[in-house]
Amino acid sequence: MTNPILPGLDIQAGTIFCIGRNYAKHAAEMGANIPKKPVVFLKPVSAICFDGDSVHLPTQSSEVHYEGEIVIAIGKSGKNIPESEASSYISGIGCGIDLTARDLQKEAKQNGLPWSVAKGFDRFAPISSFIPFRNQSLGELEIRLSVNSEIRQQEISSTMIFSIPSLISYLSSIFTINPGDLIFTGTPNGVGAIHAGDTITSEIPDLGCSVTVSITR
Ligand code: MG
Repeated sequence: MTNPILPGLDIQAGTIFCIGRNYAKHAAEMGANIPKKPVVFLKPVSAICFDGDSVHLPTQSSEVHYEGEIVIAIGKSGKNIPESEASSYISGIGCGIDLTARDLQKEAKQNGLPWSVAKGFDRFAPISSFIPFRNQSLGELEIRLSVNSEIRQQEISSTMIFSIPSLISYLSSIFTINPGDLIFTGTPNGVGAIHAGDTITSEIPDLGCSVTVSITR
């Protein structure tokens, strides 16, 4: 299988970087401290799905949560990128849902184990179409998540603990970033469980991008 093409951009999806605990109120609702440096984990590319898809709840979990997030698509390769140049590496802005098997994640945390299983099931990374980056203000993006048309999460990107340019700079100090790589930039507070029959939408209203998935057993 080849990696899927990112909707709105003519590039194949690459590595999926995800940031945990990037909003103070979400860190608090998870009972976690404010991180001193970004919390980073990865998802497999097989987790990607798109607007209109259905997501099957995995039999291994009885508590899957939505996490609405702003997602950045990278447009060129780079390493050790200074924060002041980071925005020139952005190809597009979109949004997504970092679906999380919260029960499996809790178990992993308690045992000091990685989160890959809790975060990596098929279709656990729905993404919207990407809006080409034209120097839109990265600090004024509003991310919203709705369950069955009821808003559950709503936050402005200026409240991120680590800004989008600082995340690109930090990730590139460790990993070479490449065109098509995605950065799920973390979720605001208000996360919660999803159930079969739910319809979940993540959106950035000002950019006009959204992704809606239906949840099935
Ligand atoms: Mg997340």
